[in-house]
Amino acid sequence: MGTILSVKDLRVSYGAIKAVKGISFDISEGEIVTLIGANGAGKSTTLNTIAGLLKPESGEVKFKGESLIGIKPHKIVSMGIALCPEGRRVFTQMSVEENLEMGGYTRSDAENQETMERVYERFPRLKERMGQSAGTMSGGEQQMLAMGRALMSRPQLLMLDEPSMGLAPILVQEIFDIVKELNEQGTTILLVEQNASMALSIADRGYVLETGTITKTGTGQELLHDDDVRKAYLGG
Ligand code: ATP
Repeated sequence: MGTILSVKDLRVSYGAIKAVKGISFDISEGEIVTLIGANGAGKSTTLNTIAGLLKPESGEVKFKGESLIGIKPHKIVSMGIALCPEGRRVFTQMSVEENLEMGGYTRSDAENQETMERVYERFPRLKERMGQSAGTMSGGEQQMLAMGRALMSRPQLLMLDEPSMGLAPILVQEIFDIVKELNEQGTTILLVEQNASMALSIADRGYVLETGTITKTGTGQELLHDDDVRKAYLGG
């Protein structure tokens, strides 16, 4: 299948701080691709730039052949990319249902009604709690809500920033199972994780990011068994 996203020589800075120093990678339609790396490697910066939330210094980001540089975040959502941000960032004062509605703001009411049904089927807990204010949900529930909200736009490419952060192991497993299922049903996934073993075990391919530079790439299995990767990210 064809390339859905291509990133070429991307550079992103925060003032004098160079967070992403010329990275290139691509994702084919239907793949799960993961970016792994330590704290501060530039993973979130990369996702936020693709989503249009940060402006790169230079480089190119193309989605299905179209440049995303200078395109507003809401337009990027309507083109087919959704970001599930780090730390979940649900709207805490709003109900579960209102959070989902926010995720569907680029879609029609009729479409949203249908998508919400599907989200509730996938995450029954959200349905049980549709009236509860999001800020009072547990960490795992908020992660599911953040994913549900991202799905409301019916993305072709779903970007997940550290979905396992702060979750108990059993929930981490559940979240990764859901990511795999979404992929099997046709959504292309770009997954950023510090939990490298989990991420690599479900990924078709991965890229290792170190202080703003890609230092290694391979299939999920290759990286999972790579000595350097094991030492640095998998605890030996
Ligand atoms: P983590 O896993 O800890 O979230 P990350 O790989 O996602 O790390 P980024 O959040 O992309 O890393 O950060 C990359 C670098 O950019 C870090 O050195 C960080 O301190 C810096 N940085 C990130 N956001 C800002 C900001 N708003 N202003 C200044 N520097 C920033």
